[in-house]
Amino acid sequence: MTGVKLFTLLNPSIGLIFTLVFVLLWLNQKHRVYILLMGGACFAFSLAMLVQIFQIPPDVGANTLLANVLYLGSLGLFTESVSRRVGVRGSYVGSLVISAGIFLSVFNFFYIDRDLHTRIFVVSTGFCIFLCYAALRMRLAGRTQPIDRVIFWLLLLAGLHFLPRAVLTLMMDGTLTSDAFGRSMFWTGLNFSLIVIVLMLCLTFLLAITLDIIEDLRTERNRDALVPLLNRRGFEEQASAYLARALPERACLVFCDIDHFKAINDTYGHGVGDGVIRAFGRWIGEAVRRDDVAGRIGGEEFAILLPGAAVSDAARFCERLRLRVQEGEEGIIPAPWQVTSSFGIAERRFGDTLAELMARADQRLYAAKRNGRNRVEG
Ligand code: GH3
Ligand code: MG
Ligand code: MG
Repeated sequence: MTGVKLFTLLNPSIGLIFTLVFVLLWLNQKHRVYILLMGGACFAFSLAMLVQIFQIPPDVGANTLLANVLYLGSLGLFTESVSRRVGVRGSYVGSLVISAGIFLSVFNFFYIDRDLHTRIFVVSTGFCIFLCYAALRMRLAGRTQPIDRVIFWLLLLAGLHFLPRAVLTLMMDGTLTSDAFGRSMFWTGLNFSLIVIVLMLCLTFLLAITLDIIEDLRTERNRDALVPLLNRRGFEEQASAYLARALPERACLVFCDIDHFKAINDTYGHGVGDGVIRAFGRWIGEAVRRDDVAGRIGGEEFAILLPGAAVSDAARFCERLRLRVQEGEEGIIPAPWQVTSSFGIAERRFGDTLAELMARADQRLYAAKRNGRNRVEG
């Protein structure tokens, strides 16, 4: 085996290693199908390279077509993977169209109008279009996380790097045969640039997967186990981040608490008590807007930060919620018990820390309890 041949084996070896890495990762994260698709893309890429290096099947025409089918399959899986990761589905339609175009051109310039230069030119340009298509599909998601921007630009770079390849092909010696091409310095150069591109793409994608998992863990850590809201930690994290932005915007913090909840537990048991907390959390979730920060900060105690709200806005919000709780719902608690709740509102003063704001809201809530419950104090 020559040194050049050993060198060409680097690409499929890297592809196979990443195949293994992505499949193992997917086995641990089966709900992320895009990881498996990326493993498939790496595998198809490695196979395509091996098919070319070891000339399987030996017939040059069949070998070219098989290798191209595998490269196109790899690019299709890759495109589907990067776009699915950001929630864009259905990229395979465009991939199939581009693949069909490239495949037919390869077939044409091999069997019908035999021309090695034009064939390589068309394939290089086709791969460029394919990767730019992947970049554009990814862009559809409109995500602007730094890692998404890095992947977008890398895809464009990977795609555009096929253009000088295409131009160089046209400048090559006109008498070049397929065989000589495989041994040329040009082919070695292509291999080297491919190694760099494949490594960059796979490592960046690996980093993106890691960041996705960390982000999910963080979301999970900040979510309440009983209601579809933040837990205390999540609430404090998001509310503090809002206050730290130090906008002069006004805002109100609402504290609310279910009345006589201990009696609900004592009368009907913890199961019914949990059901009441769940319903309460759901009603809050239905009442808040997108920018509001709502969380369960204690057993049956909730906090809601209302950015942009004056005390009168917050009071209207609380009153609506208070009536919703009082109205109740079938099957949450046996009749004739009527669940009620009390509310305390604190208006943000410029320079407030979250702890100061929470202490004032708690005082107002305490006043609502003292003044007879099922009421709003602002
Ligand atoms: P008040 O009207 O003054 O708010 O009285 P209360 O009985 O609602 O308040 P208190 O703080 O005395 O009781 C709250 C109870 O909530 C005590 C605790 O056992 C119960 N609790 C805390 N967390 C949970 C939970 O997750 N599920 C259930 N079922 N009960 C909980
Ligand atoms: Mg209570
Ligand atoms: Mg309480």
